Amino acid sequence: ASGYAAPAPQAPVLPGWKHVYSGKVRDLYIPADAADAVSAEQLLMVASDRISAYDWVLDSEIPDKGRVLTGLSLWWFDQLADVIGNHVISSDVPEAVAGRGLIVKNLSMFPVECVARGYLTGSGMSDYRATGSVCGIQLPAGLVEADRLEPPIFTPATKAELGEHDENVSFDAVAETVGTETAEKLRDLTVEIYQRAEQIARERGIILADTKFEFGTLPDGTIVLGDEVLTPDSSRFWDAEGYEAGKAQSSFDKQFVRDWLTEESGWDKASDTPPPALPAEVVEKTRARYIEAFEKLTRETFPG
Ligand code: ATP
Ligand code: MG
Repeated sequence: ASGYAAPAPQAPVLPGWKHVYSGKVRDLYIPADAADAVSAEQLLMVASDRISAYDWVLDSEIPDKGRVLTGLSLWWFDQLADVIGNHVISSDVPEAVAGRGLIVKNLSMFPVECVARGYLTGSGMSDYRATGSVCGIQLPAGLVEADRLEPPIFTPATKAELGEHDENVSFDAVAETVGTETAEKLRDLTVEIYQRAEQIARERGIILADTKFEFGTLPDGTIVLGDEVLTPDSSRFWDAEGYEAGKAQSSFDKQFVRDWLTEESGWDKASDTPPPALPAEVVEKTRARYIEAFEKLTRETFPG
């Protein structure tokens, strides 16, 4: 696919906040009295129920997905608090986005998608097949799909423009952008946080194959985590039970959507045509899967 469905989300109008930006899934606001997104001290990040697949934002929403993602992100920030700080100020948000919104500190973000991989798949596998390495890191010969990488590797990517794919880059490219010392810090933090999270997820029956973090700095220069963390949208979660290297693993969250789109809907993912809306059954199964991920990881009942 080469296009996005127009990201024309109807971001809700929220008292006290001004809508400034929407990504594929999330809507970003600044305080109504702030001049612009650069000078604002706080942001309101809202996870919608939108879902994307094969780089398209689908016409169908998954009820409660926004609350699952925001709840998981908050839970993880808490789990990681002794390793790294984060941008969260409060989850006391306007009623219309309750449970889906977070008020966060407006950070100065590093322009790097900080990816850690503990398993070889996706663009990592493609790069490995083509070159034997990923982001300039040489890997042993003979690795197969979904093989574990020990130790996990830092495979940064540049943030893509709307409609483009993120591009894997080398450590040296990151060092050129942010300086060697900062690049080393981002790399070490990314791997350390991944290892911690991978262990926590593993204890709960979920394999965290890879994940992406975005870091930024506070006014005093401290590096903290921004964005969302360790959600199914920023990570690959696999069911530990069915795991077997050498074959494609089914993704915990979007598998029903992907399967239906590619095998049953008649839609051609290589075409420029937007995918069709999802049948109710696919929506419901997908919703259940997101909630299952939340409950497995947090060991809490998802608040209905
Ligand atoms: P995609 O839908 O592919 O993720 P996107 O990254 O443009 O596209 P969002 O993720 O919804 O869309 O956008 C959130 C934006 O806010 C990102 O640019 C992210 O880097 C930025 N961001 C996240 N946390 C903070 C923060 N605390 N301070 C400032 N900017 C932040
Ligand atoms: Mg993003």
